[in-house]
Amino acid sequence: MVGAEQLHSREDTIAAISTPAGEGGIGIIRISGGKALSLAQNIFHPKYPQKDFDSHRLYLGEIRDPADGDIVDECLMTFMKSPNSFTREDVVELHCHGGTVVLQRTMELLMRNAIRQAEPGEFTKRAFLNGRIDLSQAEAIIDVIRAKTERGLRLAQVQLKGGLKDELALMRGRLIHALAILEAYIDFPEEELDPNALAGMDKDINSSISFIDKLLSTYEEGRVLREGIHVVIAGRPNVGKSSLLNALLMEKRAIVTSIPGTTRDTIEEVINLKGIPINLIDTAGIRETEDIVEKEGIKKARDKLNEADLILYMMDERGLNADDFKVIESVTGRKSLFIINKIDIISDERANEIKSSLPGDDALSISLKAGKGLEELKDAIFNSVMKHKADRLPSVIISRKRHKVSLEFARKSLERSINGINKNLPLELIAIDIKEALNNIAEVAGETTPDDVLDKIFSDFCIGK
Ligand code: GDP
Repeated sequence: MVGAEQLHSREDTIAAISTPAGEGGIGIIRISGGKALSLAQNIFHPKYPQKDFDSHRLYLGEIRDPADGDIVDECLMTFMKSPNSFTREDVVELHCHGGTVVLQRTMELLMRNAIRQAEPGEFTKRAFLNGRIDLSQAEAIIDVIRAKTERGLRLAQVQLKGGLKDELALMRGRLIHALAILEAYIDFPEEELDPNALAGMDKDINSSISFIDKLLSTYEEGRVLREGIHVVIAGRPNVGKSSLLNALLMEKRAIVTSIPGTTRDTIEEVINLKGIPINLIDTAGIRETEDIVEKEGIKKARDKLNEADLILYMMDERGLNADDFKVIESVTGRKSLFIINKIDIISDERANEIKSSLPGDDALSISLKAGKGLEELKDAIFNSVMKHKADRLPSVIISRKRHKVSLEFARKSLERSINGINKNLPLELIAIDIKEALNNIAEVAGETTPDDVLDKIFSDFCIGK
């Protein structure tokens, strides 16, 4: 019997439909592995017979069932010879018509031919294992595919081009230099320690620490740009929550009425606010009620408040009441902005009165009816999660927890090594700390990443990527 291990060997030739399911102009099947071309040739018949297929050229032909010669599709075929392909293996792509049946039939024919269905992300995993890209670039591929805004896309493209990889390589170079000096002294203990060499080493380590700090300081913004944030609009019924959602969406989706309590459920929409993907949630107004349906809506609203990255707490000319204060108390510690809506019908005196009753200092005054204050509100939302101005973001940003954790470990090891130098600890101990830091940094690139972590990263990819 053939074991699962053998079935899923790196030597297998694999195939998958690489275009999304459903109807489309074209549907692409990608094949990768040593036998990609010879196995594809069993089913692909070029219109003009070829002795050899040139790499990176398109050939018109037909897919035929080898069993009975039945034509499955007319398609284009391209062969990308190893190592000049995405996986660095021989790759064949069949550009068929984009229909479910035609693509599945073609896949079936391939699988009858000892080609295995690729696992999710297996093509990218091979590109990584074969050294074409490092792990940070592999992660960037999925970020490019899933980018929610243009800014997020730009960030992913920098990482895909090797932005993070190159910066980390520079730092590793400095640390390897420091380690080499150290090891020279370890190997020749009779040599006097040269204070200049030690100072140079100290400098290399300290500049690496500053560099890590610079990268770590970009994490929060990177995460926000990649994943987006949850912004919850809260406030009692009729203050203008649905109107705000509509204004930010710039189209009417939530139902706006003047009967308090009609937004019975939470409504969620995704908007692009200056490059940040925002999951905007309009909650049911929270108040004491006996209505069962409304109670359910209020429970949901409370749950959303507890998960929010930012709460927009709205009020109108009535200011805050006891119910509002209860809600606000229950979410203390969460980032929030107070918004006084309907300033078109509020006197300055009343507005000041409301402001002085608020638990926080900042309140934005807006009028959704008159279209006032919306731009200021958008700026305030942006500034509440971003340190940099929209056009001043650093080009290399870390956006994954995995990178942050590895860099934090590296930083700790480097700090230990500096302490060791200052305390004249044995050079061997200092060398261990620097090596550990190098290992942690190598984790970002995937060089020292455990297999189960790699499997988890690639299993998050789609089939055919
Ligand atoms: P929600 O219950 O908090 O979602 O409130 P809605 O968005 O449904 O709005 C309640 C009522 O307030 C509607 O009649 C809106 O037209 C009205 N409203 C919303 N914003 C303003 C505003 O800026 N000025 C005035 N005068 N009325 C507003």
